[in-house]
Amino acid sequence: MDDVTGAQLIAESLKSQKVEYMFGIVGVPVIEVAMAAQAVGIKYVGMRNEQAACYAASAVGYLTGRPGACLVVSGPGLIHALGGMANANVNCWPVVVIGGSSDRNQETAGAFQEFPQVEACRLYSKFSARPSSLEAIPSVIEKAVRTSMYGRPGACYVDIAGDMVNAKVDRSTVRVVSCCPSPPVSFADHDSISEAINVLKKSKRPLVIIGKGAAYGRAEVALKEFVEMSGLPFLPTPMGKGVLPDDHPNCVAAARSRALLQADVVLLLGARLNWILHFGLPPRFDPDVKIIQVDLCAEEMGNNVRPAVALLGDINAIVTQLLEGVYKDGWKYSSDTEWWGTLKDKVAANAKMSKALALQSTVPMNYYTVFHHVAQLLPHDCIIVSEGANTMDIGRTMLNNYLPRHRLDAGTFGTMGVGLGFAIAAAAVERSEKKGQRVVCVEGDSAFGFSGMEVETMCRYNLPVIIIVVNNNGIYSGVDPETWKEMAKMGDLTSIAPPVTLLPEARYDEVMTAFGGRGVLVRTVEELRSALQLCLSDWEKPSLLNVLIDPSSDRKQQEFPWLTRSNL
Ligand code: ADP
Ligand code: MG
Repeated sequence: MDDVTGAQLIAESLKSQKVEYMFGIVGVPVIEVAMAAQAVGIKYVGMRNEQAACYAASAVGYLTGRPGACLVVSGPGLIHALGGMANANVNCWPVVVIGGSSDRNQETAGAFQEFPQVEACRLYSKFSARPSSLEAIPSVIEKAVRTSMYGRPGACYVDIAGDMVNAKVDRSTVRVVSCCPSPPVSFADHDSISEAINVLKKSKRPLVIIGKGAAYGRAEVALKEFVEMSGLPFLPTPMGKGVLPDDHPNCVAAARSRALLQADVVLLLGARLNWILHFGLPPRFDPDVKIIQVDLCAEEMGNNVRPAVALLGDINAIVTQLLEGVYKDGWKYSSDTEWWGTLKDKVAANAKMSKALALQSTVPMNYYTVFHHVAQLLPHDCIIVSEGANTMDIGRTMLNNYLPRHRLDAGTFGTMGVGLGFAIAAAAVERSEKKGQRVVCVEGDSAFGFSGMEVETMCRYNLPVIIIVVNNNGIYSGVDPETWKEMAKMGDLTSIAPPVTLLPEARYDEVMTAFGGRGVLVRTVEELRSALQLCLSDWEKPSLLNVLIDPSSDRKQQEFPWLTRSNL
């Protein structure tokens, strides 16, 4: 008789579904699951909080198209992971969470860490179930992996009763479930494609919006050809950045507000008309704008704005169809139009304004100065992880992306605290794929704090992530050290310190040195440049630049405040 344990069945099933990475925190009852995963060749990254572990596993899903696994213990362990599941589900990223739970014969009896886990995960996932027996494990895992990727991607949960982990069963009684293929691809219907081409042809002020669905859908090659053949201006959403390079001549990101406001036709490729795109409504959009909506989720069509044309299917396939239409008609939007003139003028004016702010050589530095120099030094192929309020919003406009899926940020859910988990995932993927690309994590000081202990994880696995903490002493902004001291003299800081403040000039760099990584405190442009150059030349260990900036540094005046709902 060839016996197999529950732990082995979970690991083998994940491996045969081509799940290559597992992030988690072990404890009773899942230690054996992590060991079995390593035994079958799954890379296991032990993290310091389940939330960060789940962020990491979902980032693997976004980066590779195949979900990462997140392994957690019962009760509190699973509850910590819910934040990561919610974030993945809202972002439409595949992830599979495996949770240990109480032994079956102790349920409802007040077992250790007992919690209704399958029910708890329903709100945060597309699928949540527990295999009813050891024999059912392979098919439930296959269903979780498949559901996480098929249709609109998202989070799935598999619950494993503690007593099932070490229980054994004769292998010959377990049905083998083969690997589920990549999601089937569907094209949009032919008539709708012709209609879309007609709407585009009649447009005076067209705009293509590229969302993270286009990045996830790997539409970059077809999309480049489409944009160049059609001559249309395009605007990426935050994580749509890099599907086509930010320095592409058709990119009008620097004229974002103008482009959105005056476009008469928008070809929307894998982006929802939610808060990130101001709901597609006035005052940020023309009330009569015609939307050509491309999405694989039928229920998404018509959210907030009824589309003039709905193209249901896979973005890559649909862009190919649109491209055929453009070729057939030999149509191209002229670069001589008034619309292109307006957009180009606005791009030039905005670039000039940012440059003036960037060249201020004050100490402490402002955001623009920091990002100007960081942007000059970063390699074009690096993966940029970014979060924080001003740090993320200003960084997005100044740090270019040149490759698809090379930007990870707070996303649709506006989640702060995702950065270190995302960076660990990106570095783990980079290590196996050996593309020679750096992972650079640009964090606000508050954002860094949510999962700061994950620097130990980076040091433990020698993941050469470069963390740049843009430190303004607080959430949104804090106070300088002198003001802080004065406040402390006045009384109990819990009564008088503004809730947005954090410890001024906190030594986040020393958190990194504590675990053997490189930590550098930076105050000036010269220090910033030499420290970043040094870190970029070192592939052996992680580093953290603690960049102290002026706590009163702010964004340049905006025509409309936007993305102000990102909370930190
Ligand atoms: P952004 O944050 O860039 O605005 P969203 O996450 O709001 O992007 O939107 C992404 C959209 O892309 C979702 O509505 C999702 O259903 C869709 N999507 C994801 N993958 C594909 C694909 N391969 N083909 C078509 N649509 C996709
Ligand atoms: Mg801050």
